[in-house]
Amino acid sequence: MSESMPPDPGYFLDNLRTTDPEVYEALAGELERQQDGIELIASENMVSQASLEALGSIIVNKTVEGRPGGRYYGGAEFADRIESLAIERAKALFGCGFANVQPHSGSQANQAVFLAVLKPGDTVLSMALDAGGHLSHGAAPNLTGKWFNPVRYGIDGDGFIDMDAVERLAREHRPKLIICGGSAYPRAIDFAHFRQIADSVGAVLLADMAHFAGLVAGGVHPTPLPHAHVTTATTYKNLRGARGGIILTDDPALARKLDSAVFPGVQGSVILNAVAAKAVCLGEALKPSFKVYAAQVLTNARVLAGALMARGITVVSGGTDTPLLVADLRPFGLTGAEASDSLEAAGLTCNKNTVPGDTQPPAVTSGLRFGSAAGTTRGFRETEFRHIGGWIADVLHAMAASGARDETVERIVCAEVRALCRSFPIYPGLDADAPAGAEMNRAAGS
Ligand SMILES: *Cc1c(COP(=O)(O)O)cnc(C)c1O
Repeated sequence: MSESMPPDPGYFLDNLRTTDPEVYEALAGELERQQDGIELIASENMVSQASLEALGSIIVNKTVEGRPGGRYYGGAEFADRIESLAIERAKALFGCGFANVQPHSGSQANQAVFLAVLKPGDTVLSMALDAGGHLSHGAAPNLTGKWFNPVRYGIDGDGFIDMDAVERLAREHRPKLIICGGSAYPRAIDFAHFRQIADSVGAVLLADMAHFAGLVAGGVHPTPLPHAHVTTATTYKNLRGARGGIILTDDPALARKLDSAVFPGVQGSVILNAVAAKAVCLGEALKPSFKVYAAQVLTNARVLAGALMARGITVVSGGTDTPLLVADLRPFGLTGAEASDSLEAAGLTCNKNTVPGDTQPPAVTSGLRFGSAAGTTRGFRETEFRHIGGWIADVLHAMAASGARDETVERIVCAEVRALCRSFPIYPGLDADAPAGAEMNRAAGS
């Protein structure tokens, strides 16, 4: 070929708004949604501008496989530096000897643990989904439920883990892996007791701290690390970083198995921009200000639980030790699906959630799950969370009284929510070089 392809002069220069207005507009809409609504989904948070920069950085271009210092491709000097920073920070933050920061998600972190310590068909003892467990702990439609033999424990009538049942099921079924930690379990877990049970049957104990890793990092929640053989977490919930997972352990032999379970076991190349952002969030979590944030997340969750209970709403287990809480709507005769739709219309985003003993299907449910992390990140404290509890109660009581969504109440609450959110601004416009985008976002409220 004699003719070379002419370089596209805009390729390295033009911004998204210019080159792809459709995607740009959707992102601008999402920014406005995040700015003007209150985010109460417990698995969400708002990352720092620094994390956003790392996520959108040129390290996305680099492909590496393997671990720092042992890559299969060249040119990995800076990739190694970035991943090593993330690993060292994870170890320092959680006080452990080994960290793998490559899992693309919490589910893949858990998959790697299954691959490292189990054979197909082995028995796993974990928390039932309707008690607050996670899909990746052996739920029927998940790979972990299809290829392994899950046995489930639940919670007692007061909403706490039934440790007698855990002990009995462990003795009866001799699991190879026991998992503690869930997606909708609001209480502190007795990790030492779990370890004792695991040891008594020769099982590996996995603590999945996805929903309290930020509180552990901030020193306001017991740490599972000294008790569990292996601990997994997501980095994007209350830990407040980029989407992804991490795996932590103190056991060198297990660490080697876990590393090869991540790669080449369940993953290929590393998503290095996510790893760079994990390094940034772990660095943020090592700063003293993170302790203040973590303590406020916990306080806010407790204030919200108290505000709901004060208005007659049942909170599973009567409170929380984590950033999340679950409301049981059965006494109101409401489903989680209709209640979450009405709250969303009122500017309060949360998710429907099964409650213990729920007879509604998973797409309907009888509960709602709320989390305090995202609101805390934008600056909400006790006063704001008391208001939020009052608004949730207004919407639910109105619905329960009329048997249908009350659009008047939704409209009134939505206006109040929006007014509060205006006093707690989040990111500026999408693109610093695109004043029209920034204006679009600000104009929407003025
Ligand atoms: C959120 C969560 C995960 C991981 O979720 P991904 O969506 O796969 O990142 C794993 N375990 C628990 C307990 C969780 O709550």
